[in-house]
Amino acid sequence: MISAVLPTYNRAPLSFVSGEGSWLVEADGRRFLDLGAGIAVNVLGHANPALTRALTEQAGALWHTSNLYHIPQQEALAEKLVEATFADTCFFTNSGTEACELAVKMARRYWSDRGQPERHVILAFTGSFHGRSSAGIAAAGSEKMTKGFGPLLPGFRHLPFGDHDALHEAMKAPDVAAVILEPVQGEGGIVPVPDQCLKGLRDLCDETGALMILDEVQCGMGRTGRLFAHEWAGIAPDIMMVAKGIGGGFPLGALLATEDAASCMTAGSHGSTYGGNPLACAVGNAVMDIVANDDFLGEVRRKAGLFRQGLEGLVASHPDVFEAVRGAGLMLGLKCRVPNTDLLDAAYAERTCIVPAADNVVRILPALNIPDEDIREAVARLDRAATALERA
Ligand SMILES: *Cc1c(COP(=O)(O)O)cnc(C)c1O
Repeated sequence: MISAVLPTYNRAPLSFVSGEGSWLVEADGRRFLDLGAGIAVNVLGHANPALTRALTEQAGALWHTSNLYHIPQQEALAEKLVEATFADTCFFTNSGTEACELAVKMARRYWSDRGQPERHVILAFTGSFHGRSSAGIAAAGSEKMTKGFGPLLPGFRHLPFGDHDALHEAMKAPDVAAVILEPVQGEGGIVPVPDQCLKGLRDLCDETGALMILDEVQCGMGRTGRLFAHEWAGIAPDIMMVAKGIGGGFPLGALLATEDAASCMTAGSHGSTYGGNPLACAVGNAVMDIVANDDFLGEVRRKAGLFRQGLEGLVASHPDVFEAVRGAGLMLGLKCRVPNTDLLDAAYAERTCIVPAADNVVRILPALNIPDEDIREAVARLDRAATALERA
């Protein structure tokens, strides 16, 4: 018999009842070290006092009014994002995949508005992930996500990740509206795009006019030690998708864009009942106030160095379990030699939560404010998990 919850997930036999910082408490009282942070969502850990305060204060005043009215919390958050990024304007969503929907719509309408509706193709890369909506799965294109869901939304052209010749060739096509990519692929196995490649792609977009859409749903909001990952390359996109970390655990996403890219989106052209409601934006403002801060981001970079050093040590001492460490900032991947699901189970046995990804990688995406002692504890637990696998 089918479960009451649609069985689209293979869930670990764990249910957590509370959390504090980088720790989760299981129903039976066991404490787990959380290195997944709700898949890069709980950027300030669990039960962060500033976020709890922002949420409960707003909850007592007003939850939801709809976008028929001005929402001061939404306007404040938009101004913070505009102030801190390349963007001139923001649209709020409840998730990453909804931001993807708007990115695709905006890129197409941009060219339609300019009298070139035939310019509607969006280039995307293998190994990418843009969410589970119809546009999101069509953009990513993998068999795993699209099988049985056809006919897929047309107008996406997929290029092999890292193939510069294919990219140069594809960009010449007169029907290309935009290119979409993650500066660090997350679900694909923690694969950073080299800064040089992001710069090269920006140049190609400038030459052809194609819009550059960056999906920073997972790698953004401080994850790599800069507010957004593309800042490392010294470039700026035309359109950017944000979600996951921006709500610190409250469902919130955003689409950021330049005025040029966004000016086609006039009143009535897009909408969302919930997107940017007072409750979500109260939390989003509290997250931004903490994360969009040079000292905070400096600490993320320092902690990332500490964590990475520990993981490099693990790889060196368990060459039969691990192949390499990769990633950027606190978006780290351990490429495994054993099946990554074995490592996942061994980590659970050590009361540690990590997240699987494609390419036999496990992801380490802790809270950005994880204490140094928890980083050391994490490395010690993963060391014991690897030792257990070697003995098995
Ligand atoms: C998680 C993710 C999404 C989808 O976000 P949802 O909130 O699950 O819809 C899109 N792109 C990337 C890169 C992601 O990691």
